[in-house]
Amino acid sequence: MGIRVVVLGSGSAGNATCVEGGGARVLLDAGFSCRELSGRLRAVGIEPHRLDAVLVTHEHADHVRGAALFSRTHKVPLYCTAATYRAAGLDRAEPHGHGAHVHHAVEPLTPFHLGGIEVTAFRVPHDAVDTVGYALECEGTRFGYATDLGHDPEPVRRALADCDLLMLESNHDADMLRTGPYPMVVKERVRGRHGHLDNDTAAALLGDVATDRTCRVILAHLSRTNNRPELALGAARREFDRRGRRAPRLHAADQWTPSPWYEA
Ligand SMILES: [Zn+2]
Ligand SMILES: [Zn+2]
Repeated sequence: MGIRVVVLGSGSAGNATCVEGGGARVLLDAGFSCRELSGRLRAVGIEPHRLDAVLVTHEHADHVRGAALFSRTHKVPLYCTAATYRAAGLDRAEPHGHGAHVHHAVEPLTPFHLGGIEVTAFRVPHDAVDTVGYALECEGTRFGYATDLGHDPEPVRRALADCDLLMLESNHDADMLRTGPYPMVVKERVRGRHGHLDNDTAAALLGDVATDRTCRVILAHLSRTNNRPELALGAARREFDRRGRRAPRLHAADQWTPSPWYEA
């Protein structure tokens, strides 16, 4: 077995995904409270202190909410770029005296190892100071993770190409967002070049980066207001049909209920 993945929750109310491989376990984003994260991890059979790292993508609360307390409480080091660390206020989140969390600065496109997992961060366009996605490789199995990106420039496509398992944002249905209740300024932000991917853009990106090797795709960060799982899944399925290709297994991540473990 190379890598297995469980989505603890995904969406604007919080994001966290656990990845296991090569004897290592990492948490991608910590967007729930420490208590909630710990509960969800135990619910999928992981004791929080057994994690080797928390990798944070950017400073928005739905990705970093529980990071500092979780890291301190369970003695799990935090990894993110230096700019994200400061922007998230993690440099000021230390308690007085003892029990401080440990931070390792992540440098995009510079791989590092966590046990048997090789981790490479890559920059994505989003309205935070230094947002990244992560590519994780273990025993020849590759997992690509990118949520919160406004568009998909070539370096992002390269980072996500030819993965066995992909987790990609499919945030909103363009029509639902257009006709929905959000104020215009928020609509503009969401669909902007540094906002979030809509279903059709995510589907087109998937069609380009998925290869025969790509057996499973998890659509993530679905908006509860401007999307529905069947719309996101349908857009992806249609894209593979249009190209005359067999679609990988497609899943839509849920905000409130952890997914099953997905293996690749
Ligand atoms: Zn987010
Ligand atoms: Zn964000």
